[in-house]
Amino acid sequence: MPHAIITEQDLSKETVAPISSPRVLRLKHLIVNSYLVGERGAGAWAVVDAGLAPFCAARIIRAAETRFGRGVKPSAIVLTHGHFDHVGAIRQLVDYWRVPVYAHALELPYLTGQSSYPPPDPTVGGGLMARMAALYPRGPIDLRGHIQALPPDGVIPGMPGWRWIHTPGHSPGHVSFFRFSDRLLIAGDAFVTVKQESLLAVLTERQEISRPPAYFTPNWAAAQRSLQSLLALEPEAVATGHGIPMAGEAMRAQLRALVLNFAHRAVPAHGRYVRRPAVADESGVVSVPPPVPDTFPRAVTTGLALAAVAGLGITILSKRAKAGASRGQKRRNQTSVPTRKAGKA
Ligand SMILES: [Zn+2]
Ligand SMILES: [Zn+2]
Repeated sequence: MPHAIITEQDLSKETVAPISSPRVLRLKHLIVNSYLVGERGAGAWAVVDAGLAPFCAARIIRAAETRFGRGVKPSAIVLTHGHFDHVGAIRQLVDYWRVPVYAHALELPYLTGQSSYPPPDPTVGGGLMARMAALYPRGPIDLRGHIQALPPDGVIPGMPGWRWIHTPGHSPGHVSFFRFSDRLLIAGDAFVTVKQESLLAVLTERQEISRPPAYFTPNWAAAQRSLQSLLALEPEAVATGHGIPMAGEAMRAQLRALVLNFAHRAVPAHGRYVRRPAVADESGVVSVPPPVPDTFPRAVTTGLALAAVAGLGITILSKRAKAGASRGQKRRNQTSVPTRKAGKA
């Protein structure tokens, strides 16, 4: 794990906070990451992305209160984009903290009830996560009254020292966040550090600089330009929407290889958006190309999806049971871990 990025296991080891270069806490929610950016006592801090589902809220709040102190609110919740797996607990977090949410202006239609995302493409190949994509929600959600556009000057509320960069392609208003002082990049899904189309790769978390999740990427030319601009920043460490953060020259070499061989290594050989992109504007999706033939047997897809959903359900239930047992143990030990639940503020 890069030095500037920590996990929940590191929280108990923390002693002196390096205020000059606040670290980033990675929170993994089964298949997707969110991040807490800031240091205790250093003023502004922010939540980047909001997890897979409503149940992620309690975990994000608990980690935030451990890191920043009970009752200390973030300055903002900042979204790299609005796909369902990045906004799963946003409603619960907003209800709990009552803080503003920010996203790029071109992402707002999908976050204010105006437009659904283009249909995902299950024909792009790469594995079961892609194969099941037709089942993934594509919005919109409605955060009117809470969400606003990121400031046009690149400043990010709650993240002093960082700049947002428009990195469309995976979604129209996708943004990445960069801190020049230590060249730390939070790239959302502009690219990721795990082969997200493959359930096996997602479960094993094999680190590999990979294309944006292909089943949800409707504009490959824009995605390529976005990756070129991120490579030009020469990041020292990258924290992405999916996968374990990576750092150093080995990471940059993989990113360079992906950008230079984008047509072969990123753009799917077949797929709905390979020849023509989905077109979107400030009001949402304007047009999408027609679906491509899908020869994969529908019954097999449904069976695989049911098995995966059942597996995911068992994982969630066992994690909850473990968390409950550990909370019970902590209460018995009379520790001060916050136990407030989301939505009861
Ligand atoms: Zn996404
Ligand atoms: Zn994602």
